[in-house]
Amino acid sequence: MSSSSNRQFQTPRGTRDLLPEEYAIHRHILSHAREQARLAGFGFIEPPTFEYADLFARGVGEGTDIVEKEMYIFEDRGGDRLALRPEGTASVCRAYLQHGMANLSQPVKLAYHLPIFRYERPQAGRFRQHTQFGVEAIGVRDAALDAEVIDLGWRIAQSLGLTDLKILLNSIGDVEDRRAYVPLLQKHFEPHLDLIAPDDQARWGRAPMRLLDSKDERTKPYQIGAPVIAQHLRPESAAYYDSVKSHLEALGIPYEERPSLVRGLDYYTHTVFEIVPAHADGSQVTVLAGGRYDGLIEQIGGPPTPGIGFGMGIERMAHHLREQGLAPEEPVTTAVLIATLGEGADIMATKIAGDLRRRGIAATLAFGGRSLKAQLRQANRSGARFAVIAGARDLAEQRVTIRDLQTAEQRQVPLDQTVGELANLSYTQSQD
Ligand code: ATP
Ligand code: MG
Repeated sequence: MSSSSNRQFQTPRGTRDLLPEEYAIHRHILSHAREQARLAGFGFIEPPTFEYADLFARGVGEGTDIVEKEMYIFEDRGGDRLALRPEGTASVCRAYLQHGMANLSQPVKLAYHLPIFRYERPQAGRFRQHTQFGVEAIGVRDAALDAEVIDLGWRIAQSLGLTDLKILLNSIGDVEDRRAYVPLLQKHFEPHLDLIAPDDQARWGRAPMRLLDSKDERTKPYQIGAPVIAQHLRPESAAYYDSVKSHLEALGIPYEERPSLVRGLDYYTHTVFEIVPAHADGSQVTVLAGGRYDGLIEQIGGPPTPGIGFGMGIERMAHHLREQGLAPEEPVTTAVLIATLGEGADIMATKIAGDLRRRGIAATLAFGGRSLKAQLRQANRSGARFAVIAGARDLAEQRVTIRDLQTAEQRQVPLDQTVGELANLSYTQSQD
């Protein structure tokens, strides 16, 4: 069934319109995230929405769900094979290389706010277009930086008032650690290969750690009792992990070690973490996830360069805020609504509205030439605090009526004092 055959168009499957009420929650989250990122020394970057598809194939990894099944790939009219961005990290690392940021003082700290596109099976908390606020700190491998990035994610959540979250932490080592560990993991799954999900069977050979991250019910039972990499780290990797934990303790932020946490992208090394609701379990609840990716920049053609970052799902964060009763109230977009009556009054009203906006007061007319009663009803419904009533007779006498919509008090003021009067009133109102 093609939606274009419907008479009325709908958003494509797995996508949504962000309407004003939810937009306000997104904006609220973003303003906190931006402020916390700024306090941690991050600058802001916005890569293009599409990149050469190979960037993600090489950066994120051929064996990942994202690259294998979820990318929106298209050929443009010039024959280039492009992909809508399925995640932010590879693009930021590409930009780091392209703009020679290795010459800047390291680490280079970049934050972003981007739409992300993945062809996923739509369900609650899982969309085909979602939005991430993410950060990347590139160029330094230092446990203190890992802790700082995790702390930033934690502080964003704290500043939004969320107290019911927890940090899950693990180390998944590096290529060398995995050389010893992977055969043990394969041996664990081998007797059950016929019973696990077909996709996971295919991964058993080339990306067996992915099996630990599988959300398929057929694979899940066999994840229990699997060997965990944190117990098979080389001494230097184990020491790095210990150091990250010591730094987190110094910051006073709580974490929970989760040996099964591996994350779904190929590029992660050493530290991986997620922030999840403390009392919810399931696969659509993670609000923020990230880790260290010391091999990524080399994968996409640069010199060996370490990095660490995270992505926060704004839609999931918004959902969570709403559930916790922490979403901001619907913003009132208009402070003053101007109702008009009779010939010529709307010209005067237009001028008053313009003057108010220049003074920084949100104002609008009622519009549509309806009865005064209808206009005042609209004013009450709009959430505006004041109505200005401008009639044709007022126009003649150079005055208007200001009505306080909360107390229903009203009085007449000279036209040339209307804006000043409302500015004073708005100021007084915003103090309480
Ligand atoms: P999941 O395990 O839920 O599939 P992921 O490991 O694929 O998540 P990342 O690629 O690390 O997620 O993305 C970072 C964050 O972006 C996630 O923690 C989540 O909050 C959010 N996110 C990821 N995919 C989606 C999606 N399809 N719809 C909405 N939010 C998403
Ligand atoms: Mg996913």
